[in-house]
Amino acid sequence: MITTLPNPTDTRPDTAIYERRESVVRSYARSIPRQFGRAENVWMFDSQGGRYLDFLSGCSTLNYGHNHPVLKQALLDYISADGIAHGLDLHTDAKAAFLDTFERLILAPRGLDYRAMFTGPTGTNAVEAAIKLARKVTGRELVIAFTNGFHGMTLGALACTGNAAKRSGAGVPLPHVAHEPYDGYHGDGVDTAALLERRLSDPSSGLDAPAAFLVETVQGEGGLNAASPDWLRRIADIAKRHGALMIVDDIQAGCGRAGGFFSFETMGFTPDIVTLAKSLSGMGLPFALTLFRPELDQWSPGEHNGTFRGNNHAFVTATAALRHFWSDDGFEQHVLQGSRLLKARLETIARSHGLSVRGRGMMHGIDAGSGEVASAVTAACFTRGLIIETSGARDEVVKILAPLVIDEAQLMAGLDIVEASFSEVLTAAYGVAAE
Ligand SMILES: *Cc1c(COP(=O)(O)O)cnc(C)c1O
Repeated sequence: MITTLPNPTDTRPDTAIYERRESVVRSYARSIPRQFGRAENVWMFDSQGGRYLDFLSGCSTLNYGHNHPVLKQALLDYISADGIAHGLDLHTDAKAAFLDTFERLILAPRGLDYRAMFTGPTGTNAVEAAIKLARKVTGRELVIAFTNGFHGMTLGALACTGNAAKRSGAGVPLPHVAHEPYDGYHGDGVDTAALLERRLSDPSSGLDAPAAFLVETVQGEGGLNAASPDWLRRIADIAKRHGALMIVDDIQAGCGRAGGFFSFETMGFTPDIVTLAKSLSGMGLPFALTLFRPELDQWSPGEHNGTFRGNNHAFVTATAALRHFWSDDGFEQHVLQGSRLLKARLETIARSHGLSVRGRGMMHGIDAGSGEVASAVTAACFTRGLIIETSGARDEVVKILAPLVIDEAQLMAGLDIVEASFSEVLTAAYGVAAE
């Protein structure tokens, strides 16, 4: 029985090789300055024997924790039997098993009828395929994305991303996208769905007829803004009435993070296209998927291609994850219970500092008011052995992305650290004697 407490080391390892040979583009390694060798469940272990509680989960790529024994065994068995590792987009046993399982455990019970397109292995590849298909099918160019949206780093997806620092790396114009206000962008009093409807209905608004709306139900990188189900339903309806396809980017919020397997599944609308990646393989293997209504499947063979489309090792672990976690509603109930505990505890912490909570499901965070405070809090958390990151336009939200498999004691131990770190930072910042 392992305890719930982290046991970090306090010395930075030698980083000379990285400074000498790795591009300065690296980012997470800067705020988490250790060298890691091993990970298990909710824990990461550094090369000096330190143990860290993981509230980042590879940005929600490790929803089932690190090296889940069932997933690991499935992959070991497959490799031992010389299973196909790479097969372009050939039919393989692993692909058939994944598609069968996905149809039986995910699509059918939710009444969803989607074709699956295996894109290149990262999330941005799934987004590129989604917007390319929407433009092809509708014959229109414009994609409507939303303020604070994050969709990836390749040019098409980057054009749909709001963040100026990310966009500035493009080096070329990022055209054919309009960034419209997300739910709540102008505060509670302004209905941004009505604004969008007005602009699309006005022949002189300057907004061209769109191919698609591209939206996250909860903005994972953009500050954990959660759109209301009502707003999303209305956006889906506006898309339909204006001949645009509704694309939900569920790369971060899907696979159980925001509640159900899909973040939108109880909200009363069905997207035309859905992107999945991050936790889809269940084990941190690269694997992305674009789902769409069968009528939209208007590609000609090979029209959208790629060497690594359908990672067979990821098919194996994804299939094992679906069977283990999504055969009944036990896991979903566990996530819902964790979400309630997380939200309640964060609200208590936030209230004591006059701050507010953002998010939905197991993707909640505290708006610390500024990037400086938020990064001071995450640094204080790290010193105590908690791996945690920020989110938002100015990195102002301390974001909790614990593995979904986390138990209550572990979750509370991590939130104790978040609470202590907020107190430490805000006490130092405002000189309030905490005693
Ligand atoms: C991470 C993410 C992407 C991009 O995925 P990559 O695997 O980093 O290319 C796209 N959309 C959302 C919502 C994401 O969180």
